[in-house]
Amino acid sequence: MALSQEDILKIFKDTEALLEGHFILTSGLHSRTYFQCAKVFQYPWHAETLSRQTAANHTNQDIDLVISPAVGGIVFGQEVARLLGVRHIFTERKDGQMSLRRGFTIQKGERALVAEDVTTTGGSVKEVIAIAESSGAEISAVTAVVDRSGGNVSFGVPYTSLFQMEVVNHKPENCPLCTAGHQAVKPGSRS
Ligand SMILES: [Zn+2]
Repeated sequence: MALSQEDILKIFKDTEALLEGHFILTSGLHSRTYFQCAKVFQYPWHAETLSRQTAANHTNQDIDLVISPAVGGIVFGQEVARLLGVRHIFTERKDGQMSLRRGFTIQKGERALVAEDVTTTGGSVKEVIAIAESSGAEISAVTAVVDRSGGNVSFGVPYTSLFQMEVVNHKPENCPLCTAGHQAVKPGSRS
């Protein structure tokens, strides 16, 4: 049975993954809310429940591997790959540049599903697509746990997400919380 948006929201709330405050997103935009996907995926049973829905959404596509950006996409990508019965690799940043390391290789013509935890501008996903394509992969689709883009991203391939979150983001120079003198924090890198 497909998960409803209410089912998914309940998991996010039960795991306290939805934070309120003043946050700097990976995209550089500021937001009052932050979705900390790792708080959901610390529970393997929630990871399995969510990833099973993603796997079902992509089961009739020809997929040879799942590829995700480190760190956020790794657990999701691994679980989706397990459920699809394919391998999983990840990209990571070295000196700011997204790259494929650890001996991971892609055979020419392999079909890849790109899996990310949260998309806002889609920047990291686009970098993963560029690396995968330059390594010979064909991108079958992109999938995310949470889409915060408001429908404003396109990857040129089918794109699915489990949950669409309406979020107001601001450029730092236009951020009302910054204007009010509040300090923004980067939740991903906080201890
Ligand atoms: Zn701000």
